[in-house]
Amino acid sequence: MKVLVTGGAGFIGSHLTDRLIQKKHRVVVLDNLSTGRKKNVNKQAVFVRGDIRNLAFVSRVFRKEKPSGIFHLAALPRVPLSVADPIGTSEVNIAGTLCVFKAALDAKVKRIVFASSSSVYGDQKTLPLRENMMPHPVSPYGLQKWVGEQWAKMFSSLYGLPVISLRYFNVYGPRIDFDSDYSLVIGKFLRMRREGKPLSVFGDGTQTRAFCYVDDVVEATIKAMTAKTLKGGEIVNVGAADSHSVNELVNLLGGPKMYLPKRAGDVEHTRADLKLAKAYLAWEPKVSFAEGVERTKKWFLKHYAP
Ligand code: NAD
Repeated sequence: MKVLVTGGAGFIGSHLTDRLIQKKHRVVVLDNLSTGRKKNVNKQAVFVRGDIRNLAFVSRVFRKEKPSGIFHLAALPRVPLSVADPIGTSEVNIAGTLCVFKAALDAKVKRIVFASSSSVYGDQKTLPLRENMMPHPVSPYGLQKWVGEQWAKMFSSLYGLPVISLRYFNVYGPRIDFDSDYSLVIGKFLRMRREGKPLSVFGDGTQTRAFCYVDDVVEATIKAMTAKTLKGGEIVNVGAADSHSVNELVNLLGGPKMYLPKRAGDVEHTRADLKLAKAYLAWEPKVSFAEGVERTKKWFLKHYAP
């Protein structure tokens, strides 16, 4: 099968590309390298540098390459950046997504798998987080992904192009971003380790997250491309049913730590309901948290430790 991965130079997209190539698929990567890196892109993939906001360009690439499926992962996936720049991030995360969907329709692509986010849930009173809960995003990023899901439904029902939205929860693993101001908690801790600083925990560290190892996320994403149970427009959680505290993470990473006052706006707990993931994709995560953190730590120490 020939597929195209938008955002294939990024953290999750590059793992997805590697796995697809391992499974003998032909892969085209489209990425503007804004947060992604060329060195992440598998040498056996065709790499096209360009921007998903440019409809004419995206259409040209899709028509030339004729992929039968598209994995749409390109985005500016940083919550604080979306707060600082709601317009610029909407241009990529909403208008760019719309360009990808429209160009795919015109190029007669058979299915799109769209990387949405657990940020769509925002503030919820109960756990686990279920796909049928009314979204209540608390950041522009969460809202942008929610709008993307609505476009996914619209393309499925109105235009007959099946688009499946997967709500990824805190993904981690090798190549996780640790070097920017917007890195997620594991990435931040790795950077503090490299700088010889104690790991700084906001609050008492009992807040929990449904961390999901990148290989598991990739497996669910590939299954969503071919699952016959999916017709288009569905929204499916891809996360962990059990969650782990920031204190557990600190202990697994090891080294000194310090506690800072709680940050405003941080969600206390996340946990995914996996009924739909099991029913549609016959999927649940396989890599334990301890194993996943160990693999991530090994990768980091090998490539970046001082
Ligand atoms: P990433 O930043 O590593 O990857 C995003 C990629 O998109 C990068 O390679 C970047 O260069 C590319 N990109 C950005 N703007 C672009 C544009 N205008 N045109 C073309 N390419 C562009 O992020 P990631 O963590 O790998 O996330 C991948 C997807 O998964 C995103 O859609 C994100 O919203 C979603 N997601 C990630 C997580 C997580 O925990 N990492 C959680 C929920 C959802």
